[in-house]
Amino acid sequence: MSLIVAKFGGTSLANPQRIRDVAARLVAYHEQGHHLVAVVSAMGTSTDDLLKLARSVNENPPARELDRLLATGEQVSMAIMAMAVEARGVPAVSLSGRQAGIVTTGAYNKAKIAEIRTDRLTRALDQGCIVIVAGFQGITAEGDITTLGRGGSDTSAVAIAAAIHADVCEIYSDVEGVYTADPRVVPRARKLESISYDEMLELAAAGSGVLQMRSVELARNFGITIHCRSAFTNTPGTLIREETQMEQAIVSGIAYDKSEAKITIRAVPDRVGIAAEVFGKIAEASVNVDMIVQNISEHGTTDISFTTPISELRRLKPVLTATVARLGAREFIIDETVAKVSLVGAGMKSNPGIAAKMFKILADNDVNLGMISTSAIRISVVIEGEKVESALHALHTAFGLDSDEIFRETQLSGEELAAKTAKGR
Ligand code: ADP
Ligand code: ASP
Ligand code: MG
Repeated sequence: MSLIVAKFGGTSLANPQRIRDVAARLVAYHEQGHHLVAVVSAMGTSTDDLLKLARSVNENPPARELDRLLATGEQVSMAIMAMAVEARGVPAVSLSGRQAGIVTTGAYNKAKIAEIRTDRLTRALDQGCIVIVAGFQGITAEGDITTLGRGGSDTSAVAIAAAIHADVCEIYSDVEGVYTADPRVVPRARKLESISYDEMLELAAAGSGVLQMRSVELARNFGITIHCRSAFTNTPGTLIREETQMEQAIVSGIAYDKSEAKITIRAVPDRVGIAAEVFGKIAEASVNVDMIVQNISEHGTTDISFTTPISELRRLKPVLTATVARLGAREFIIDETVAKVSLVGAGMKSNPGIAAKMFKILADNDVNLGMISTSAIRISVVIEGEKVESALHALHTAFGLDSDEIFRETQLSGEELAAKTAKGR
């Protein structure tokens, strides 16, 4: 008998039939004698629909009210799921983030979980119920509802697994696990049997949306093994855990991200403290910055380029206008058409020449590199957005990642696929 936390994403809950299928899976676990907490996302595209609704009345919705609204998506799922489980004769209780004791920081839209008060949850488990928790949400110490950022139900699940000392945390989605690349873009991508926390963190940070980055961070910090698998099959998926293999793959996976823009501030005076001033002001506006490049100075001025999420541009633009004026720089340029492509692999640490090979493959495929950054186990380049697919295919083949099997889209409606594309995947 185990204590299982199982999270189901929006596509797995998109319509009544899929909800019934998930309920059947939960009941089967229950009948095998396991204790079960199911964490649910909003049904199908409903978080996107709620966002659209908010923006139809206010282009820039107040963060507190937006969280209030978005949290309702998961609350619909939890109640419907509890009903579907009860329909099979097994007791179930649904708990919102607040009822499940998920206390967060007050940063609306991107709150962090500070604490989980598990008494109500464990009481319901002790009574023999399947407990259904609304993912993606919590409550501040002051009692306001918060959300954890897009994809945040993954983080809810891992945090609950850590808090109740679950034996396993299963994350069910519409793919069979973590692949060597997004299988919807690279159909020859291969499913990985396992991947280390560090590699999964780099893949998530580099744009691979299969797990929210914060969930992997929490899993690593608390030693939780995540089993990432499909809600539509019983095939074993991918285990995310501390790596045990001696021989590590040089390249485990490739990720891409089209959700960032490249900003260049032209002709900034080249003085001590300028970078601190520019990025200090950007940080004050709570805008995240990813890659940074400063060019060699010419005639006492230099160009500074960096990338930032397109969603933050609205807040960034006034900061840049003021900065350019204050420093006497020439101008700033925003390019929203770029994409970041990253290779990730723990074996890179001990294998020199991977960056050179990557650059050569991209050059042979006529892909120009705008920016480059590296960590011990990742190499990222910024390229023209329209070349991203050809770059991914070329790198995937050249680094020997191709599988003989072709990934086929199963069970996804046109609307669901469109929603995934809209999220920038
Ligand atoms: P859910 O809604 O269940 O949380 P997501 O849409 O967030 O599911 O995550 C699953 C999606 O992640 C897949 O449909 C796939 O297109 C995308 N994805 C991106 N990179 C990868 C990868 N390396 N392996 C598997 N899936 C990936
Ligand atoms: N429903 C939220 C989203 O679409 C949270 C999640 O699915 O994890 O981002
Ligand atoms: Mg997700």
